[in-house]
Amino acid sequence: TQALIKTANQVIGELKLHGYEAYIVGGAVRNLLLGEEVNDIDITTDCLPKNIIKIFDKTVPVGIEHGTVIVLWQDFQFEVTTFRVDGEYIDHRRPEQVQFVTDLKSDLERRDFTINALALSETYEIIDYFDGQKDLKNKEIRAVGNAAHRFEEDALRMMRAIRFQSVLNFNIETNTLHAIDKLAATIALVSIERIVVELKKLLMGKGVHQALQIFYKTMYCYLPFFRDIKENTATYQLHSPVNFVVYIAYIIYCELKVGQDLTSKISDFKLSNQEKKQIKDCVLIFDFFNHSEISLKAFVYRFDIDLIQSVYHFILNEKIVFNNIVDISSILNAKQQLPIQTRDELQIDGNVLMTNLDKKPGPWLKSMINNIELAVIEGRLSNRQENILEWAKNHV
Ligand code: ATP
Ligand code: MG
Repeated sequence: TQALIKTANQVIGELKLHGYEAYIVGGAVRNLLLGEEVNDIDITTDCLPKNIIKIFDKTVPVGIEHGTVIVLWQDFQFEVTTFRVDGEYIDHRRPEQVQFVTDLKSDLERRDFTINALALSETYEIIDYFDGQKDLKNKEIRAVGNAAHRFEEDALRMMRAIRFQSVLNFNIETNTLHAIDKLAATIALVSIERIVVELKKLLMGKGVHQALQIFYKTMYCYLPFFRDIKENTATYQLHSPVNFVVYIAYIIYCELKVGQDLTSKISDFKLSNQEKKQIKDCVLIFDFFNHSEISLKAFVYRFDIDLIQSVYHFILNEKIVFNNIVDISSILNAKQQLPIQTRDELQIDGNVLMTNLDKKPGPWLKSMINNIELAVIEGRLSNRQENILEWAKNHV
């Protein structure tokens, strides 16, 4: 962290050398004051993007129209953004247009919460127009200015409030909370991608319990997937942080028990194919820990071991009562002792089978290979071609 701040100050020094003002701003200042790790640093300046590009050798223009340029400096990168105020808000969404300004205060004023509206100068002076430091001390999330007005501008800020509540384990200040309560329905107007970003962070926060309580009191019923929940939402409150994929799979699994299948609704989240597959797998992993319709060997062969472990720890953390909770050391042992890790390692293929059994291609072949695979995994058959062929002849 110290090295990162020092390097950021070199970037700031360079801007000042050219006659501009520049500060570290936002999450970095907040985390620094909290004594937490700082991973990325945002810099705010009155220098215009086109001039930032001239001053620094290596830049990436990630969002010129919003005033953001990435500056690569030594081994680090910094997002350098020109002081700006947001243009007109339409439909409770972030505006397309921004307006560059020359004073720091206006730039800080457009930020969401007081604890995110702090700036740090090169000489380690803290600039705090909205009592952000006081709110940090009191562990409060408070909107800058009129909360309702700020949420009307950009409804995502309501999700961000509970995301910060969770990640920092803070409380949401009363007026800010009232405004969320009042405007919850407008969250429906925000793009789902932006909501999912915040939701993923929320679920990983140490204050996830309180944050989800507010989520289920206010916004959930206006969001895709969540609005279809039938089970009592108290079921979905958490004691411990969890990753998004496991959490969504748990909801799907519980909803199946109340007679509804939300699987098709996960496409509403616009996730990657990999995440969608992980969610579906986690649902089956939950089912294994509840019913075990397949052997432990087949189970560890079929599913990714990291996913299995995540679900396992979730079940323990949340004290979920399931019928087949196999302990983690047996799971890891079973995984280690598998004779093959993937189907490619089977010492047989379709052609060899057809020739030796003197049969034409057909549906029998697929199910034969499946059966061979399972027999090998479960240790009923050794993975040698001659043994497999003999076994196959007896099982046509
Ligand atoms: P993290 O440590 O999670 O990155 P952060 O505070 O840096 O936290 P970001 O989402 O990276 O959060 O945003 C950077 C800064 O930009 C915030 O601290 C805040 O000042 C401002 N900001 C981001 N999103 C909004 C928004 N929707 N409305 C107003 N200000 C915002
Ligand atoms: Mg950030």
